[in-house]
Amino acid sequence: MRIAVFSSRSYDRRFLAEANAAHEHELTHLEARLDARTVPLADGHDAVCVFVNDVVDAAVVQGLAAAGTRLLTLRSAGFNHVDLQAAAAHGITVARVPAYSPYAVAEHTVALMLAVERRLHRAYNRVREGNFALDGLLGFDLRNKRVGIIGTGRIGQIVARILRGFGCSLRAYDVIRNDEVRDYGVRYVDLDTLLAECDVITLHCPLTPETHHLIGEDALRKIKPGVMIVNTSRGALIDTRAVIEGLKDGRIGNLAIDVYEEESDLFFEDLSDRVITDDVFSRLLTFPNVFVTAHQAFFTEEALGNIAETTLANATAFERGERSGNELTPESVRGDR
Ligand code: NAD
Repeated sequence: MRIAVFSSRSYDRRFLAEANAAHEHELTHLEARLDARTVPLADGHDAVCVFVNDVVDAAVVQGLAAAGTRLLTLRSAGFNHVDLQAAAAHGITVARVPAYSPYAVAEHTVALMLAVERRLHRAYNRVREGNFALDGLLGFDLRNKRVGIIGTGRIGQIVARILRGFGCSLRAYDVIRNDEVRDYGVRYVDLDTLLAECDVITLHCPLTPETHHLIGEDALRKIKPGVMIVNTSRGALIDTRAVIEGLKDGRIGNLAIDVYEEESDLFFEDLSDRVITDDVFSRLLTFPNVFVTAHQAFFTEEALGNIAETTLANATAFERGERSGNELTPESVRGDR
């Protein structure tokens, strides 16, 4: 199949080329992000391959259908950026990579927890400048801390398994309970109890209308003062403006994020010689107790290999008139699984 690969970076080219040896699709790599302006780049391609910050709303879907696109293959598990209703209406099949390496994201989550609370970002810079003072670097033991996991699917479950090894006391909230995590000593509680009792709250649920701004003004009224919040899931699970207020008055003691609600204008680009015009994001970076990575939790050799392989296998199955099992329908939104 002829596949237009949007938002393609050097690592996408490398891993897709390696995986494509077994599939032999014709790949056109495009650095541009897919949106209403760049849809014409898909002309003449049967399939379009997108990543998390590509825009696949109703207007873009309509443009893709007019350009002859029959398959949309996502290099991601999350699909909140795709209008599945519009895709179905235009007869475009959508397929994703449901699981590529939950370990990559879970391990990065724990790395963020340790980095922010031991102030590794500050320590790294200090030591390089010959400043070996410890003031301002005081952390806490994770052992015996109460950690609340919101969303105990593939990633949340592995976070639970790792944190059990740290000796944490684990709580969880999910709309569907997962028996396996109970084996890691996790106790399911309701959301308010989790918010009120936990020293660390880590988000692993999908972004849906129900979870949008899950951590906002209301949640911040219920949390334990000084809580650490970690988000490696989707930016809009957190109301960033409310969280900034929580950081200013100390209700939030630590914030570590790999995702940001307005990240599409920032992440995956080198903007180091430009002025950042997003004042909310810039304010976040001024806090000593905030640690931000730019949506890199998935970024491991293993994950990229699996993403490339599944993405191309999805295209091969479609070309043969078969189902890969990774197809999404408008009903998928309800479960987002
Ligand atoms: P999953 O589908 O296996 O698990 C999600 C869990 O969230 C499920 O158990 C589900 O029941 C639960 N859930 C759904 N709605 C909920 C609600 N309203 N309240 C509480 N729980 C709810 O997904 P996963 O593979 O574990 O991935 C979790 C999220 O991580 C994805 O949605 C994706 O957005 C994000 N992600 C981020 C990266 C990254 O690089 N930062 C990479 C992959 C995935």
